[in-house]
Amino acid sequence: MISTADEILLRRAIGLAARAVTLGDAPYGSLLAGPDGTVLAEAHNTVRRDNDITAHPELKLARWAARELDPRTAAGTTLYTSCQPCGMCGGAIVRSGLGRVVYALSTEQLVEINPESGAWPTPPQAGPALFDEARVPIEDHGRRRAT
Ligand SMILES: [Zn+2]
Repeated sequence: MISTADEILLRRAIGLAARAVTLGDAPYGSLLAGPDGTVLAEAHNTVRRDNDITAHPELKLARWAARELDPRTAAGTTLYTSCQPCGMCGGAIVRSGLGRVVYALSTEQLVEINPESGAWPTPPQAGPALFDEARVPIEDHGRRRAT
């Protein structure tokens, strides 16, 4: 459920996306807010500027939160973003422990507006393989953590 307060912060994220366009960057913006709506950090897409395929605003904010916030504080935050996070950013958001995501455009809506963007297919993969060999470093790591 998206409240009027959510919509205000979502409009700010859309504004960050619009600002990105004026700077020559891709049209995506996000911000991270605390439980009372205080904006903690903002970002926009800088893939072109930074020549970095991972420079999505949601990923930047997830990394910032994992570095700067304790887990309890991170769990109380909401990430507002102009478009639904891609698979890469979704994984980072979960790993960083952010509490909630509110987005404006869904991936389906984004692809409808701009067919060149959006869809995140699974890469070609082969596996599993070499189970007995691959499990050794995993089990070793587990034993080290237990001691
Ligand atoms: Zn992304």
